[in-house]
Amino acid sequence: MSRARVLLLNAALGPLDYRVPREMAVEPGSIVLAPLGPRQIVGVVWEPEHMPSNAEVGDNRLRNLIGVYDLPPIAAPLRRLIEWTADYYLAPPAAVLRMALSSASALEGGRTVIEYRATGLVPDRLTPQRAQALERIGERQGLVRELAAIADVSDGVIRGLVKAGAIRAVEVAVDDPFPIPDPIHAPPALSPEQRDAAEIIAAAVHARAFDPMSLDGVTGSGKTEVYFEGITAALEAGRQALVLLPEIALTEPFLKRFEARFGHLPVAWHSDLRQSQRRRAWRAIGNGEAKVVVGARSALFLPYRNLGLIVVDEAHETSFKQEEGVMYHARDVAVMRASFENIPIVLASATQAIETRQMVEIGKYRELKLPGRYGAAQLPEISIIDLTQDPPPRQRWLAPTLVKALDETIGRGEQALLFLNRRGYAPLTLCRHCGHRFRCPNCTAWMVEHRLTARLACHHCGHIMPPPAACPECHAEDSLVACGPGVERIADEVAALLPEARAAIVTSDTIWSPAKAAEFVNRMEAGDIDVVIGTQLVTKGYHFPNLTLVGVVDADLGLQGGDLRAAERSFQQIAQVAGRAGRGTKPGRVLLQTREPGAPVIQALVSGDAEGFYAAETESRREAGAPPFGRYAAIIVSSEKLEEAVETARLIGRTAPEAEGMIVFGPAPAPLAMLRGRHRQRLLVHARRALDVQDVIRTWLGALEWPRGVRVAVDVDPYSFL
Ligand code: ADP
Ligand code: ZN
Repeated sequence: MSRARVLLLNAALGPLDYRVPREMAVEPGSIVLAPLGPRQIVGVVWEPEHMPSNAEVGDNRLRNLIGVYDLPPIAAPLRRLIEWTADYYLAPPAAVLRMALSSASALEGGRTVIEYRATGLVPDRLTPQRAQALERIGERQGLVRELAAIADVSDGVIRGLVKAGAIRAVEVAVDDPFPIPDPIHAPPALSPEQRDAAEIIAAAVHARAFDPMSLDGVTGSGKTEVYFEGITAALEAGRQALVLLPEIALTEPFLKRFEARFGHLPVAWHSDLRQSQRRRAWRAIGNGEAKVVVGARSALFLPYRNLGLIVVDEAHETSFKQEEGVMYHARDVAVMRASFENIPIVLASATQAIETRQMVEIGKYRELKLPGRYGAAQLPEISIIDLTQDPPPRQRWLAPTLVKALDETIGRGEQALLFLNRRGYAPLTLCRHCGHRFRCPNCTAWMVEHRLTARLACHHCGHIMPPPAACPECHAEDSLVACGPGVERIADEVAALLPEARAAIVTSDTIWSPAKAAEFVNRMEAGDIDVVIGTQLVTKGYHFPNLTLVGVVDADLGLQGGDLRAAERSFQQIAQVAGRAGRGTKPGRVLLQTREPGAPVIQALVSGDAEGFYAAETESRREAGAPPFGRYAAIIVSSEKLEEAVETARLIGRTAPEAEGMIVFGPAPAPLAMLRGRHRQRLLVHARRALDVQDVIRTWLGALEWPRGVRVAVDVDPYSFL
């Protein structure tokens, strides 16, 4: 080949052609370094027929490629996945490619990296910043920049600590091989139902063909043990396995469990990795030495050498949907990857998404069922606390019945979990004199009080401010009142009612890294915590055998401001949190506080009639032509200037093409009308399943122009309607 088309790592550019110097050998997938103006840029050689260019250049004007990396080429199945993802989600192929290639340093490889860690020495001059840095860094290790980020101080502070001898350099080899998990280290004796499911998955791995499976088993039925047998099959066949988890907080308990089963840790891939870890993992994934990878959704695009199985755990989780950049749904892309790789994929959940159930229904996915909990464990009994009959006292949120149950549980030496999906102390703060409400200056959102850190925070943009002593409107002092509960307020209530109880708050504010999650799990397992008060972060994955009571503080919360999936999501969330109770030998109990005991979601949970609930939900989706029976795409227009956003949204609305089976709603101001200082307008495209709505939108928006400050994002299959 003397001429090569190259997809460059720059989303603003289309693919470009280069000349391949005579002494250089490239093939489709080769990772190359190319000149771009005065700079050099990484790219991947692509088949021209798969990556059309609109900048055809004659042979004589081509520039030479600079070099080829000594790495395996990006394989055809991953190239097809990158094209598919870009096409389906209307994203630049380069933006998708970026998820497959790690940092430039990973491409180079073969070197050592200098990292830093604390020596234990306390410097003579211990400024508050230095103290904070040493405290937060603890045992951790990383580049100066990474330690500065962990400690929330400047690079200079870290360098000062290095000079003072409190932090020292360590040389890290970045290409050490990973140990290979051992399939026969500690295999469990599976129950007959588990064995049946495990055998089907293992057979599928050996068959090496696309084979999507829904592993549908109640919480605690041993889904993890079952898909571990699929991983065993992949290891035996010398192939790699990928397990996707919805939250990085779940990685740590998973790693422990995996290690107990296979004798070694799998390779983790998530945003909290240090650069040296990321680089080592990426290279080992590419050369096939990393046998089992567990990761967040971004692990999906890595260049596996020899993938044999994909597992998506907690497959119903909406956090698999990426809401920024390339707005893809990792569950859907995972199925596509399995299809291009021609391998099986297991979607595991106790509360499968309606989309997945429908695929089973029409025979596209196989279904593997685990109907009961493993061993002696029983599903917990779920009952209602009707807040209209059994209300808590004023300014309290726990009904007497729930408090009594908490007291009894702790009295027996067991653990309890209170679930409220609201971070902070109170969702709204206002002035009792003038009624002034604290709003975020950048977003259409209230500032949420966080007492633990003594600040008001916007949960959308991260804007923070200290709680003011006086009302900024009427200047009355000490006039601010907190309205409604968040987890911190519930913790205060527990402390007031049960002063002996040892409580822990579990939210993304307290569990912000895998290390923090590990610490929490250890404290739970050691019995150092009596009551966990947590947000959705504690609803999934965790297995605490001594946890026997779950109290849902506000079972109606998920239904408020409902979008099309509100009821389904509410059902899944409560069923999952309920599933944390009674996972050991002691029976579990779940109490739902509600003002609407008759609501279908609540009734389905109490009666255990998940099938009936799903059937009714599915029917109403079918009638509305909502997913999975029809499709949506949202068009979100934003600008710092309101006028521009409105004008552009109107232009888009006015030029909407006529297509059969397609309706365009809007534009209208988004419910989150302002986000990070940008005004937002939305349009919603509703189309029947068979319509190539991406193609319609591409042509439609491609013909329009808007001012430079305007951003137009298309969210295909949206999960958020804000
Ligand atoms: P799920 O993922 O379905 O919620 P888990 O895989 O977490 O369920 O299993 C629940 C608990 O039961 C775990 O502690 C697990 O180790 C245990 N368990 C499940 N199956 C077996 C088995 N066959 N032998 C031993 N322990 C098992
Ligand atoms: Zn904000």
